[in-house]
Amino acid sequence: LELGLSGERRLFNEQFLIYTALTRPSERLWLSYPLADEGGASLLPSPVIKRVRRLFPQLEVEEHPLTPDNLEGEAVLPYLAHPSQALDHLAVRLREAILDRPPAPIWWDTYSYLMLSSRWRPALLQVIASLKRQNVEEPLTPALVRRLYGKTLRASISRIESYHACPFAFFSAYGLRLKERPIYQLAALDMGNFFHDAMDRFVLELEKQGLDWGELSEEQYGQLTRQIVDQLSPEIQNHILDSSSRYRHIARKLTRTVERSARVLGRHARRGKFRPMGVELVFGPEGQIPGLSFTLADGTRMELAGRIDRLDVATDEDGQTYLRVIDYKSGSSKLTPLEVYYGLKLQLLTYLHVAEKWAAQQLADKVKGVGAFYFRIYDPLQKTDQPLAAGDAEKLGLESYRMEGFLVNDPTAVELMDEGLKGRSQLIPVIINKDGSLRKSDSIWNEEELVQLRQHLERQFIAAGNEIMQGNIAIAPYRLAKETACRFCTYRAICQFDALLPENSYRWLPKLPREEIMARLEQAKGGEEHE
Ligand code: SF4
Repeated sequence: LELGLSGERRLFNEQFLIYTALTRPSERLWLSYPLADEGGASLLPSPVIKRVRRLFPQLEVEEHPLTPDNLEGEAVLPYLAHPSQALDHLAVRLREAILDRPPAPIWWDTYSYLMLSSRWRPALLQVIASLKRQNVEEPLTPALVRRLYGKTLRASISRIESYHACPFAFFSAYGLRLKERPIYQLAALDMGNFFHDAMDRFVLELEKQGLDWGELSEEQYGQLTRQIVDQLSPEIQNHILDSSSRYRHIARKLTRTVERSARVLGRHARRGKFRPMGVELVFGPEGQIPGLSFTLADGTRMELAGRIDRLDVATDEDGQTYLRVIDYKSGSSKLTPLEVYYGLKLQLLTYLHVAEKWAAQQLADKVKGVGAFYFRIYDPLQKTDQPLAAGDAEKLGLESYRMEGFLVNDPTAVELMDEGLKGRSQLIPVIINKDGSLRKSDSIWNEEELVQLRQHLERQFIAAGNEIMQGNIAIAPYRLAKETACRFCTYRAICQFDALLPENSYRWLPKLPREEIMARLEQAKGGEEHE
């Protein structure tokens, strides 16, 4: 096993290299350091700078901004040392001139110099031509839309979410089908798929062996997990988990993550009555559950498909059947009615919507969908400033796995998920008040709100489908408080979105109070009934 240099050794080498660099010059020594990183966040200089300034207190520190913004006259000259460098800076000044921010006179001199130079004139003319370009995308022609999407628009729920986040990102991913170059590595996506498969196989294995999740012994969790991980490992990226010592170490960590997560889901089973009714349930034209389909304004058929990670069922003492959906995630996720209203997170609600209809047929009974949750599969580190007793460690561990999502305001449903709960639940996003009611939060929706939001789903899907078929590919990322569509988007190099350009700005989605959202949904429903 090859080991890297120790921290001590690396520190020594670094000091030696600094010493060598500082003692080699014969005439002059320049020391420079950046004040900020590329994102504008301030940076601290190396401790070497501090030491040198202590040794030579008479040294003066000069500041050299990276760009000549707000500089005039001779102060600009260092930025014009070479015509290509001058051209780069001039391009920025010319764009500012268009925005009514006249440049300093020296930039017009630079302009004249480059224009009169036979070598640099073509490059300057190119820059001038680019100034007229607007970074906007016109809608696609109907013929092109047909060629891209055909006569039936097939989409998953996450695709519609991506359209609502930014039409251009949707077009890049599902119209142009652009993908990042595959790299032989264990990417977040591979790990996400691995966790999904492992949890599904866990349920199937329990079924096969006739075991109840809530009654497994500690050893059984370990045995089952190892067996499942051994089956799955070779399927990831051509045996990558067996390709080096590092990856074998990662495989052990993945096993531990699956085992811990399975144990937590075992606590859910022990404390509640919900049990899996199905895993990996595919809905849509080729799935076992009927999906959603609509006819769009131009007559196109829109068919929605998806996959429900896990559907749970429970029955109360009166024989009423309840359903909940669990969606596995490897990152943290929350859900608010506002995100559903804006169409940014539609998966959980849609899954519960389609599962409820299907389960009623399967069970030949009236079923009630009472919640849908994200369950995070990970291996959290617990932070504590003192040693913990065994019980406290378990409580802290469980809390870090608390599911997020939404739950109908129904104490019976809570009882079926976390029996005898008082105060804050360690399993689901619920707090019980002293009078036994559920504390109001973004995760607790009353039945009327659930009905309204479910009706809103259909409007969202149809509106998105109509706009896609009208060819809308606008560069229009949303912004909701600090969150933006661009944060994790891989298409930035293609769209070249720049919030400083007047034609590129975020689509601001205002934060609305819950009452306002419901009032708007009521209004939209009223409008439909009138039509
Ligand atoms: S980077 Fe932003 S603007 Fe560009 S495609 Fe992605 S989400 Fe849209």
